[in-house]
Amino acid sequence: MPLGTQEFSYHLGDDFFRNMESVDVTSGNVDVALSVKHVGNIYELAFVLKGVIGIPCDRCLEEMEQQVDTSYAMSIKYGDDYDEGDDCVTLPEGEAGYNVARVIYDTVALAIPIMHVHPDGQCDKEMSSLLEEHLATGDGSNDDCDCDDDNCDPRWEALKKLKDNN
Ligand SMILES: [Zn+2]
Repeated sequence: MPLGTQEFSYHLGDDFFRNMESVDVTSGNVDVALSVKHVGNIYELAFVLKGVIGIPCDRCLEEMEQQVDTSYAMSIKYGDDYDEGDDCVTLPEGEAGYNVARVIYDTVALAIPIMHVHPDGQCDKEMSSLLEEHLATGDGSNDDCDCDDDNCDPRWEALKKLKDNN
């Protein structure tokens, strides 16, 4: 590649995400702008990703849309042995290229919030009520306790006595 900066752009559709054997991402429509700056024997790569992906909602498990608007920078250089650091990859001399697909995919995956749910009221109602039922029957501890909260725990009794004495 010549010295200087080159711009690339990719469009990632459903196929890209399905081919990545993703556990989560079910669909996608993401534009990637990649600029590669070649300085000396270092390539500086800057990715900008914008679009939307489909992932299962944490609350109702139906697909929801997750906006993707993120960027990532890394560098690639040639050296003796293959080495992959945090944001820097060393390729052995003679290696023809570097597959950026995995990098792009990981960047998208990292952009997904840990907790992702539909906006309030937009969850699949049938599914969320099923889940709620399941949670309710799964935790029957409240139903088993027939004492009222005030004298349920002996420690509260002790506290109450303390309070009464004051
Ligand atoms: Zn939902």
